[in-house]
Amino acid sequence: MIKRRTYTLRFILEWLVVISVLVTMLIGLVSSIHVNEASLSASYLENNFRYAQKLAGNTTEVVSGMQNTVNALAMHTAEHPFSNKDLDDWFSVNKQYFQSLFIADAHGIIRQVSPSVKGILPGTQLTSPASQQALRLKQPFISEPYYGKAGHLIILVSSPIVDQQGTYQGFVGGTIYLEEENALNRTLEEHIYGDGSYVFVVDKTGRLIFHPEKKRLGDIVTMNPAVKQALEGKSGYAEIVNSKGVSFLAGYSHEKITGWGIISQTPRSVLDKSNRQLVGNLLLTALPFLLVTVAIVWLISKNISSSLSKLALYSDRSVGSGGDEPEIPTTTSSIYEVQKLYQSTRMAIRKVNRRLTQLQAEVRTDGLTGLANRKTFDAALQERIRRQAPFSLVLLDIDHFKKVNDSFGHVTGDEVLKQVAKTMLEQTREDDLCFRYGGEEFGILIDDEHVQLAWHIAERLRTAISSQKQQTGTSITISSGVANFPLHGARPVEIVSMADQALYQSKADGRNRTTLFQPKQARSRHVR
Ligand code: GH3
Ligand code: MG
Ligand code: MG
Repeated sequence: MIKRRTYTLRFILEWLVVISVLVTMLIGLVSSIHVNEASLSASYLENNFRYAQKLAGNTTEVVSGMQNTVNALAMHTAEHPFSNKDLDDWFSVNKQYFQSLFIADAHGIIRQVSPSVKGILPGTQLTSPASQQALRLKQPFISEPYYGKAGHLIILVSSPIVDQQGTYQGFVGGTIYLEEENALNRTLEEHIYGDGSYVFVVDKTGRLIFHPEKKRLGDIVTMNPAVKQALEGKSGYAEIVNSKGVSFLAGYSHEKITGWGIISQTPRSVLDKSNRQLVGNLLLTALPFLLVTVAIVWLISKNISSSLSKLALYSDRSVGSGGDEPEIPTTTSSIYEVQKLYQSTRMAIRKVNRRLTQLQAEVRTDGLTGLANRKTFDAALQERIRRQAPFSLVLLDIDHFKKVNDSFGHVTGDEVLKQVAKTMLEQTREDDLCFRYGGEEFGILIDDEHVQLAWHIAERLRTAISSQKQQTGTSITISSGVANFPLHGARPVEIVSMADQALYQSKADGRNRTTLFQPKQARSRHVR
């Protein structure tokens, strides 16, 4: 048979609570994380979108400011004689916008340049595609970023010089080196939060023209979904995965003058940090509750289990104790079921024991007379054998009892038997064991070494019975035999047969007498 493992109630209750508290906490944690992530990512997306829009607006302002400056300079040079010193003055006022300002003639030859330290001298022929485009377009123009001879990524803002006769005289150019300090960079670089958020800008072709990592400038990033959207002229936000497989919460915007895309993004990993903080805080808040709950459950389960085990112990000891129950346990538990269990167990045990006592008594006594029965007598004899304790045995038999039955019926005969039993109890001490040996034969077991005492008791009983009037209206007599251990025999079992022999002797000698056992050859002593 498979032995099933058993667990204490306390163990089960404690684990049940710990597990349910943990599961509840886990569910709480998971749902808080979800809510936290959802609200945080929504707010990051929203913020990045707003920021990209703001930057697009600022860029528009800066770029149009630059265009205005170059336009004004072009108009000015068309109308006034203009020295290099004048250009230096213009530059010093606008140097936060431009890396250089220059004036080129209609053939693309530099006439004036400021600052002069940039290495491009008056007289130099402009060769960059942006300059060629400016010459060709003869219109205000902002170039795509391009690499200059010195390796700078440059934007050219230009405006045509047209004299009063309407003749094209060349153009004014302002250069911006994207990787160097200027108003445009300052506008874009504000966005540094220290949480990994950053801004990058792509030109119309999807080439990086602004990025915190300078070495990435010039890279083409058209695969980026946010870039795609921005270059299509859209503004919005999206969760994207970049070329390195990193997730970002991105906001994007389209800058209308340049056609650039501006993307502000935050790595999704910022949510992990926030989640860790959230989990830490929740655990810290929940821990005292968890401990208090476990402590309360521990106390309750201790109360229940100790009450139940006390009860179990009590039941164990009480059943079969024959009415001699151990002290009834009490419980301090305020749990209804535990109290009920105590009550019903106590009641059940009392009932069982009462019934058991009754059954035990019934087994030991004779049903008609209420005296001890033969079984009890045998046990008493055995017990004296074990102890080797001295005793006397009186065996008695009603004389001519058959006649009583025959003359008055068995019911009356039974009444006579009862009367004899009652008289036996009256004439003996409490310590003497009066028993019905069987039929109309009775006996008395007297714990005393003096056989004379037993003989006297038997005589007293005989006299008492013979002087009583029975239900029959007449009196009856009894014959007795008395033997003593160890006086007449070495073994108590022999004493029964000796008392029987003495009783037989009483019958033989004419009944209504008491005979003391006499060893062979000796004569029995009897009294009439
Ligand atoms: P003796 O003087 O030789 O003892 O004669 P007796 O008639 O008493 O002896 P016997 O052994 O011949 O008869 C005993 C009778 O006791 C027989 C039986 O019917 C009767 N008896 C035995 N047990 C009971 C009982 O429980 N109730 C009744 N009414 N009679 C019983
Ligand atoms: Mg008999
Ligand atoms: Mg008889």
